[in-house]
Amino acid sequence: MARLKRIAVMGAGIGGLTAAIALHQRGFEVELFEQAAGLTEVGAGLQVGPNAVKVYRALGLEAELRAIAGEPINAISLNWTDGMPLSRAPMRAGMTAQFGAPHLNVHRGDLLQVIAKPVPDSIVHLGKRCLATANTRDGAAVRFADGSAIEADLVIGSDGIRSMVRQSLFGCEDPRFTGMECWRATLPVEKLTNRRFGAGGRETFDTNDAVNWLGPAGRVVCYPICAGRVFNIFCGHVTKNWVEESWTIPSQLSEVLDAYRGYHETLIGMFHAVDPSTWFKWGVFDRDPLPRWTVGRVALLGDAAHPMLPTLAQGAAMAVEDSFVLARYLDQYRDDPEAGLQAYESERRPFTARAQLQAREQFDVNQSVPPKPRLSRDWMFANDVTKSEPVRASSLAEKAYDSGKEI
Ligand SMILES: Cc1cc2nc3c(=O)[nH]c(=O)nc-3n(C[C@H](O)[C@H](O)[C@H](O)COP(=O)(O)OP(=O)(O)OC[C@H]3O[C@@H](n4cnc5c(N)ncnc54)[C@H](O)[C@@H]3O)c2cc1C
Repeated sequence: MARLKRIAVMGAGIGGLTAAIALHQRGFEVELFEQAAGLTEVGAGLQVGPNAVKVYRALGLEAELRAIAGEPINAISLNWTDGMPLSRAPMRAGMTAQFGAPHLNVHRGDLLQVIAKPVPDSIVHLGKRCLATANTRDGAAVRFADGSAIEADLVIGSDGIRSMVRQSLFGCEDPRFTGMECWRATLPVEKLTNRRFGAGGRETFDTNDAVNWLGPAGRVVCYPICAGRVFNIFCGHVTKNWVEESWTIPSQLSEVLDAYRGYHETLIGMFHAVDPSTWFKWGVFDRDPLPRWTVGRVALLGDAAHPMLPTLAQGAAMAVEDSFVLARYLDQYRDDPEAGLQAYESERRPFTARAQLQAREQFDVNQSVPPKPRLSRDWMFANDVTKSEPVRASSLAEKAYDSGKEI
C-alpha cells in the first residue's frame, strides 16, 4: 500500500477542485482522485452566488471567473401564461453594493477549466473510482475499483450525491427523489429573436437580463452565460412520476412543450429555437441533513455532505465555501488535523443544513398560485467565509421573504 503524507481528495468536481486549490495555496500536499477519465461537467449553466465569488476572489480567480461569466443586469419575473411582469430587481447594480460581490452565471465547463488550471496535472489521478475508505492508526486508507489502494493523513470525500466516502462512514442510504425533473439547454443569444413580454408584448428584456417564468408546473429560469454570448435555460418541472435513479437522458422538444403547455409564447418560442438534438433531462435528488460529516481523519464536502434541491442555486456555492473553510481550519490546526476537521464541520454543517431545508421549502413555494415571493437568500449571499469571523447560522436572521424584489 502506498503511503501518502498528504491529503487525499476523492472527486474532482467543483468542490474537489476548489478544495485542492485552497489546500494547495496553504502549502498542503494534496492528491485528487477522480473516477472519470477526464475532468468534465454537464453542458449547462451555473449560478455563482456572491458568497462563492468572494471565495474565488480570495483564491485569486475572480478575474478569470468574470471573464467567462454573464452578469445579469436585472432579474425579471413573469407570469407564466400572459408574460405580465411580477417583479423586477436590479442585479448588476445591486448585488455588489449589498453583498460585496457580484452574482455571476457561468457555463459549467468553463468554470471547470478555470478551476482546473491552478491544479497541477501531477496531483490529479483520473480513472480512480473510490470504493471504500476507513480510518487507520494514524491516517486513513482508500481502496479503488482498479484494485489499488492508498493511505493518507486525511481523506476528503467530495464525490457527489452518491458518495462512496459517505457510504463508508455512515452506511448505504439512497438519495430522495424530490419530485423535480428538469431540462437544461443553452441558446446563442443571436437566436433569441423574440424577447417581448408584458401588456401587448410592449416590453423587451435584454439578453443580459435573468428572466424567470413562474407557473404551477414549475419555474423556468433563464440567464446569460459565456460573457453574455449564450442564454442558459433551466426548466425545473414538478412531476408525479417516481424516478428511481438520477439520470441524464436525451429528451425531445415535444416532452418540454408538453410539460409547459399554456406557458407564455415568448418562452415557447425560446424552446423552439434550441437545437432539438440538445435537449436532456435530469431527475433531481437530495438528502436530509446529516448529524455529522466527520469520522476521525475522514470528512465530507459539497454534495457528498449536503446535496440540496437546485431551487436556491446554492449547492455548488456551498461546496466552494466548504473548501475554503476546510483549508482555513486545517491550516489553523496543523498539529491536530482531527480538531481541524471538527472545527470545519461545526462551522459548515448548521449553515448548509439550513440551506438544504430552505431549498425544499422553496420547491413548495414555487408551486403556489398566485406565485409567492421567493424566500430570502440574503443570509447566504451575505456570508463571507474568507473573513476570519464568519456569519454563523445560529446568529442569522429568521426566515424572511424578499418582498418587492425578485420572485
Ligand atoms: C439541475 C441542477 C441545477 C443546479 N444549479 C446550481 C446553481 O445554479 N448554482 C449552484 O451553486 N448549484 C447548483 N446546483 C448544485 C450543484 O450542481 C452541486 O451542488 C455541485 O455540482 C456539487 O459539487 P460537488 O463537487 O460536491 O459534487 P459533483 O459536482 O457531483 O462532483 C463529484 C465528482 O466526484 C466524482 N466521483 C463520484 N463518485 C466518485 C468515486 N466513487 N470515486 C472518485 N470520484 C467520484 C464525480 O465524477 C464528480 O467529478 C444545481 C444542481 C442541479 C441538479
